Amino acid sequence: FDQREGHIWVDGRMVPWADAKIHVLSHGLHYGSSVFEGERAYGGQIFKCTEHSQRLRRSAELLDFEVPFTVAEIDAAKQLVLKESGLQDAYLRPVAWRGSEMMGVSAQANTIHLAIAAWEWPSYFDPATKMKGIRLDLAEYRRPDPRTAPSASKAAGLYMICTISKHRAENKGYADALMLDWEDNVAECTGANVFFIQDGVIHTPQADRFLNGITRQTVIELAKRRGYEVVERRIRLEELAGFTECFITGSAAEVTPVSEIAQYRFTPAAMTKTLMDDYTAEVQPKAKAARNNAA
Ligand code: PMP
Repeated sequence: FDQREGHIWVDGRMVPWADAKIHVLSHGLHYGSSVFEGERAYGGQIFKCTEHSQRLRRSAELLDFEVPFTVAEIDAAKQLVLKESGLQDAYLRPVAWRGSEMMGVSAQANTIHLAIAAWEWPSYFDPATKMKGIRLDLAEYRRPDPRTAPSASKAAGLYMICTISKHRAENKGYADALMLDWEDNVAECTGANVFFIQDGVIHTPQADRFLNGITRQTVIELAKRRGYEVVERRIRLEELAGFTECFITGSAAEVTPVSEIAQYRFTPAAMTKTLMDDYTAEVQPKAKAARNNAA
């Protein structure tokens, strides 16, 4: 992945992809003082660009460091990276971390860096294949108590247990793993939020103890626009037996139906399909512009 063509924006400069390196004694690498974003561009426009830039800065603040670029500067840098990539549809990855001046738990004076890369990351499946749903394992690790970790931050350190959980799930033949919280409520997947449907009502875990995804918020808005009832609440694992549909949401995952979580089975149906289609329409700049003009 580190030997591609193209450029990566690093601390305000475009650097050839293969030369965008950091020192091995970077604090971000040793102590996890790093935050990142994951976002997509559709038809040359970054979806909810400013929201992602704001979240990046907020994620860093929760780790007590400041990204040395304003939201407007981050937005502009992302636009530049997208333009230079020549891609219309792309995935963008901004990452900010503490540098290498001091080594130790404390590194208050270390320079904060910001890099932004963009690459092609297509939606893997065509809609028909997607509607079959993916299979999820149940992770052993729990999402941490907000008193244990800054759980609202998109911090690299919070992904340590996600990677372990996802690898273990993949090794058992699953696509991903569902994670519970420390009180055994349903929380989220390793890189996406989760929704369930029962009798025409949408249920999703209350996002006060894990990342309140931008896609999650968008899908809730789209569901409400359709007149669907959305209930945000604590959900126990045993309740999964009563839900008929399930899907996950994320900037990378978009809206992806789920057919199976551990012993529980779901059949992706009309409401999931409607939200999948509404999300696809919402992210397309042309469709959105046309709708706004019609409104
Ligand atoms: N939870 C986790 C752990 C994630 O990594 C992501 C992806 N950023 C999400 C939820 C969904 O967030 P978003 O919709 O903002 O991409």
